[in-house]
Amino acid sequence: MATTTDKAHCITCGKEKTSYKCEDCSQHFCANHLAEHQQTLRKQLDEVEDRQNLFKEAFNQEKMNPQKHSLMQLVNKWEQQSIKTIQQTAEEARQLLIQHTTEYINQTEVKLTKFTKQLRQIREENNVHENIVNQFKQKIKELEVEFDRLSNISIQEDSSLFIPKISVVISSASLSISNVPSDAKWQQNGIIVAGGIGVGNGLNQLSNPYGVYVDDDDQTIYVAEYANHRIVEWKKGAKNGQVVAGGNGPGNQNNQLNRPRNVIVDKKNDCF
Ligand SMILES: [Zn+2]
Ligand SMILES: [Zn+2]
Repeated sequence: MATTTDKAHCITCGKEKTSYKCEDCSQHFCANHLAEHQQTLRKQLDEVEDRQNLFKEAFNQEKMNPQKHSLMQLVNKWEQQSIKTIQQTAEEARQLLIQHTTEYINQTEVKLTKFTKQLRQIREENNVHENIVNQFKQKIKELEVEFDRLSNISIQEDSSLFIPKISVVISSASLSISNVPSDAKWQQNGIIVAGGIGVGNGLNQLSNPYGVYVDDDDQTIYVAEYANHRIVEWKKGAKNGQVVAGGNGPGNQNNQLNRPRNVIVDKKNDCF
């Protein structure tokens, strides 16, 4: 990948020595720095391979068991909760219906028994007076009215959404975009705000940081670390980040994340 040329200035050290031209980038290097240049490329290739392996692992897991997808779990949870809410509401309605009819039946049975007994007594005594007949007419009318009132109960449907409807929203934006606006002005020379001392899981390191969210107000950035299964908060000027979610290996426990790719922070300071 390199051809020997006569003396030229090495792009790395600036010294004029016998130089080698990298055929890929057409830059000249001294023997030492050509080796370093090639080493850097090999290291970058290693990093690409590491990422490929991580990606493969995640991809195969997704392929083998798409049901485990966290959004799928959300849908399942919504389904179970909705069914539970419907069953609870139906049970409450059934209980009210039973309670209402049972009360009516018990009360009316007592009144009806008393009425039947009194009527039989009047017949036996052959005591048929106009005011007594009127009293019985009034009593049977009351029983009939109460019986009619039993059918006054009905079921009413409320058309407002009682179970929140869910739908799948597929955003056309790439997963790895952050909240940095596309017309943001960038400084010519960047400064390191997070990590920068190699790949790792120390609090001063990053591993496969796939997503970033910038909080202007708090001068804080949030980094989703794919390979460390965590979201880390970096305050302006901080030497170390602070884990705000995950960091306990991949998984679906409350203190775990599984290969987070992106992070957004709402103003109530909850991470997603
Ligand atoms: Zn050199
Ligand atoms: Zn090169």
